Amino acid sequence: MNNIDNHNSINDYIFDKRIVSACGLYCGACGIYLATQENELEKLLQYALVLKQSVSKTYCDGCGADRKSAHCSKMCTFIKCTHQKNIEFCGECNDFPCVELIDFQSKLPHRMEIEKSQKRLVEIGWEQWFVEQKERFTCSKCNTINSAYHLSCRKCGNTPSCEFILDHQYTIDKYLIDE
Ligand code: SF4
Ligand code: SF4
Ligand SMILES: [Zn+2]
Repeated sequence: MNNIDNHNSINDYIFDKRIVSACGLYCGACGIYLATQENELEKLLQYALVLKQSVSKTYCDGCGADRKSAHCSKMCTFIKCTHQKNIEFCGECNDFPCVELIDFQSKLPHRMEIEKSQKRLVEIGWEQWFVEQKERFTCSKCNTINSAYHLSCRKCGNTPSCEFILDHQYTIDKYLIDE
């Protein structure tokens, strides 16, 4: 993880708790979130086709937002379960990490840091976690936020695109080739 002292001051960040998800993903680096915020209709259409849902149900402002992609809707296991337990994130749960969370993490490579991320979230609080996650997916050359599937920066082409890719390049590359 980057130390924020080496980068921006914490005051330079615009915090949005809606992109801190119940499961531990950082929604700010989700391709659907990025396409929504950047109004990339073609990308949203591609996501909608893959997810077999309409484009209007694919727009997403993050896990905690009212406008949320249908596949991450309020029916999400982790949102439902954390609400029932009156906690905000799975990391606060006595049963963490449960079988469902481990299984969810194992299914796709962008989820591979969920358990670690949850521990960090509880340890340092959501605002510091937000800073760390944002830094982790940000290109060191041009400051663009990339998703876990951008091997090269989507803006300047720098490779690896961010710290997350630096740590997981082989796994992500293999996943993209096998897809
Ligand atoms: S689609 Fe899911 S993971 Fe992506 S921003 Fe929305 S809630 Fe977060
Ligand atoms: S049991 Fe705990 S860790 Fe598992 S989904 Fe529910 S809140 Fe999350
Ligand atoms: Zn870049």
